[in-house]
Amino acid sequence: MVTAQECIFCKIVRNEIPSKRVYEDENNIAFLDINPASPGHVLVVPKKHFGSMHDIDASTMEKLGTAVKKVNDIVKEKLNCEGTNVMLNNGRIAGQIVEHIHFHIIPRYQGDGIELHFPRFKTDEKYFDEMQKKLAAPAEKRKAADDDWTRFA
Ligand code: AMP
Ligand code: ZN
Repeated sequence: MVTAQECIFCKIVRNEIPSKRVYEDENNIAFLDINPASPGHVLVVPKKHFGSMHDIDASTMEKLGTAVKKVNDIVKEKLNCEGTNVMLNNGRIAGQIVEHIHFHIIPRYQGDGIELHFPRFKTDEKYFDEMQKKLAAPAEKRKAADDDWTRFA
């Protein structure tokens, strides 16, 4: 696990390494991604160190969400893009490389060549019933669920 001392985004927050900031408030900053997917690709991060959405507290997350909305509005207005992809990768399995929670705001333009492809798997009625039961059940019951989820993995 990366500490705040060694975290690259904490170093950006502390101005120990350079970044091109485009937004700042009391709790968050936004800066240009060093390796942009499209022109204007911005990252929005809380000033406090949290590894991912699994770790962050609700109040900091709420403020981060508000900042993401503001930065998304700025990007849309100033760059005149047609839309944006707002993305957050939680954990290595989901493509997270920097272990400090961050939202990507990726402006989208005609012909930008970006392809988002999510393969879909085959489902049946049992899947929807069981998954709804599992997700909507109270936490203690969720743990007790003995269905075989691996068949959908
Ligand atoms: P993720 O895969 O969601 O962890 O994305 C990490 C992002 O951080 C990538 O898009 C990188 O290009 C970006 N990144 C890494 N280091 C820096 C840096 N020093 N300044 C700006 N962006 C960075
Ligand atoms: Zn950090």
